Amino acid sequence: LGCGAVDYITKPFSMPIVRARVRTHLELKRHRDMLENLSNLDGLTGIPNRRMFEAHLDRSWRLGLREKAVVSVILADIDHFKAYNDSQGHLAGDECLRRVARILGSQVRRPMDLVARYGGEEFIGVLYGGSPEGVVTVAEAMRTAVERAAIPHRSSPVANHVTVSLGVASLVPLRDGSPTALVGAADQALYCGKESGRNTLRVFDFT
Ligand code: GH3
Ligand code: MG
Ligand code: MG
Repeated sequence: LGCGAVDYITKPFSMPIVRARVRTHLELKRHRDMLENLSNLDGLTGIPNRRMFEAHLDRSWRLGLREKAVVSVILADIDHFKAYNDSQGHLAGDECLRRVARILGSQVRRPMDLVARYGGEEFIGVLYGGSPEGVVTVAEAMRTAVERAAIPHRSSPVANHVTVSLGVASLVPLRDGSPTALVGAADQALYCGKESGRNTLRVFDFT
């Protein structure tokens, strides 16, 4: 048991007991997996939740500090989503959130990249390594993928389909910096995008 095993059986085997034991362990494993999913995944969309995002950003930040690698955050917010709910109903709103979550999530492919639901109709991506230009390319791919999906939006002043605005912030972590400030920078960039008409992408300028 000291080597990491959680149970043992002795010879001679009694098949009913072996079966019962195996059943118990499978059940325990299913429960552990279910709890892990519940605590890390968003209930509506099935993508990572804010809690998982925070933990992942923290890990990426500390790794980036050590490896002097670029850490980036992409904040995406659905444009005029309140109007979407009001005109098409809350259930359609939920379905829209699921679709946007899937679309945004499928734009990142590297093992260290993560897209999570940050809150209501806001999604957040953490990308590790690569160049700031590469991250802008990913963010722009997110914006165009949502456009291409052409999810009808009957009450948006921006377009007749659902659009998102995005804010991007990239930097090599510094000892006196913080991952929270990185998210704040992406949020400021997002705000600029909203101000300048939505369905657009803005990059925070750290210089
Ligand atoms: P903006 O373009 O400035 O982002 O406008 P907005 O209407 O998208 O922003 P606002 O923050 O005013 O509204 C967000 C809306 O998102 C309001 C809320 O009802 C809706 N929302 C948040 N979470 C959910 C959810 O889980 N399901 C549904 N259907 N709607 C949600
Ligand atoms: Mg919002
Ligand atoms: Mg919004």
